[in-house]
Amino acid sequence: MRSPVPAYELETPRDLAAALERMARAPGEWKPFAGGTDLMVLLEAGKLPHRRFLNIAKLAELKGITVADDFVLLGALTTYTEVRRHETIAAEFPLLVRAAAETGSIATQNRGTIGGNIANASPAADSPPALLVYDAEIETISARGKRRVPYARFHSGYKQMDLGADEMISRIYLPRARSGWRQYYRKVGTRRAQAISKVCLAGAAKMESRRIADVRIALGSVAPAVVRAQATEKVLLGRQPSAEVAREAQAMLAREIAPIDDMRSTERYRLRVAQNLLGEFLESLSG
Ligand SMILES: Cc1cc2nc3c(=O)[nH]c(=O)nc-3n(C[C@H](O)[C@H](O)[C@H](O)COP(=O)(O)OP(=O)(O)OC[C@H]3O[C@@H](n4cnc5c(N)ncnc54)[C@H](O)[C@@H]3O)c2cc1C
Repeated sequence: MRSPVPAYELETPRDLAAALERMARAPGEWKPFAGGTDLMVLLEAGKLPHRRFLNIAKLAELKGITVADDFVLLGALTTYTEVRRHETIAAEFPLLVRAAAETGSIATQNRGTIGGNIANASPAADSPPALLVYDAEIETISARGKRRVPYARFHSGYKQMDLGADEMISRIYLPRARSGWRQYYRKVGTRRAQAISKVCLAGAAKMESRRIADVRIALGSVAPAVVRAQATEKVLLGRQPSAEVAREAQAMLAREIAPIDDMRSTERYRLRVAQNLLGEFLESLSG
């Protein structure tokens, strides 16, 4: 099934402006190639439809982690290894560190990028639930300029996203707003490592006098895109976690997610596991 490599073109632009100019002149024709961890799998499987790629892996403008007063900014080329090693991210965004640690192997973590994970738009990707919980924003760039989109609106359906044919993801904004919140992340796959999620849940809650004053819950692999469970969050607001509250929230979760049967799992299993993870998250809040 391997694709013939000579059928592909890979150009290395000298800087970001040159890459954007290429994309502006022929929108949709040139696709960014970052760590290649998703693209090379498609190439090997003979399922890589695009033929022309821009090697963006060395573009300094898309690299680096910046800590500002209100945000931590991740360059789109930030790797999972960089996320795992960063002190501020470890202290303030532990769910992202957990997601990075559970992504593939060390080799994949060294090459794979957060920008690539978002743009690949898999509903089973492991970082997006954490990004949703943190109210992340996506910065895109093109020859026309920059835009900022709340991540909650970026993916609109299976492999659909708010990214123009001449645009790239340039940075991810993480608001520094979750300090003091209780945080939870769990990925369930076939094995403990090197497995694609069957279900993944990220949650964070602000507790006041033992009640849930604010909460975010996001899940992967239970809908055409990674989703935030807003109706379930509403059930929880102002409540003190208990077995009864958990049952109500689990019932609401069943109404707002839409898992499917596929080669990795079944709808029934995914729903049950999603509800169990929600229960575990809520239990962790009463401790
Ligand atoms: C063995 C293995 C295990 C894996 N395990 C996991 C896992 O456990 N969890 C998980 O979530 N993922 C997993 N992955 C998937 C993959 O590693 C991630 O999705 C990775 O983050 C993709 O980043 P990349 O830089 O390699 O993207 P690439 O492969 O370079 O690109 C992926 C897509 O994103 C586009 N793209 C890349 N960067 C940009 C940008 N800045 N702007 C716009 N478009 C862009 C490309 O055009 C392409 O369509 C695994 C992959 C492998 C090979």
